Amino acid sequence: MGGYGSGRKAWAQSPTESCYRRIDVRRLHRSGLLKPDATGRIIWSRPGRAEELYVLGLQAEGEGLWLWNEPALEKCSMYFVPLSRTPCFKGGARLWFHCPEITCNRRVAVLFGGDLFLCRHCRGLSYDSQRANAFDRQIIRMNRLRQQLDWPGGPLDLRGDKPKGMHWKTFNRLAGEYEQLDELVGEVYGYR
Ligand SMILES: [Zn+2]
Repeated sequence: MGGYGSGRKAWAQSPTESCYRRIDVRRLHRSGLLKPDATGRIIWSRPGRAEELYVLGLQAEGEGLWLWNEPALEKCSMYFVPLSRTPCFKGGARLWFHCPEITCNRRVAVLFGGDLFLCRHCRGLSYDSQRANAFDRQIIRMNRLRQQLDWPGGPLDLRGDKPKGMHWKTFNRLAGEYEQLDELVGEVYGYR
């Protein structure tokens, strides 16, 4: 059992996201809510605004997560969010949601509710120009790092290994920066 988000965090995002609740796969993972058969609730509330209480129920099953709005009306109000993993360069794996909108299925770190929790794209969320510019700079920087690391492809491709002849210290610095940027970019846009 577990749950996070009983505070105001979910309501204090950037303006473009302020009217959406959000769930982050990394936070769910840290909370133990993605373990097999784990079940829990996430509660959003605002002090003094009890009537705006919102409760999301969740249960991990197989390679995914059932979600429903509480109080659960009927079983058929549940919907399934698939999970997948990609390898991290430091070992281990990173978890992703897949958008439950069947025609979308984008791999993302964050979903936004709504009656249903969907990816940013399906929610029609966009970033203001300042954030879009920051995003572009991150992509440019990631391409530059890939060149230095001799990794083929672009930011949507998998990370590579340490190039021959590169010091581990250099590799860890560059790959570490790349990983941080990848985390940010993946959270924002998600990718397949
Ligand atoms: Zn989607």
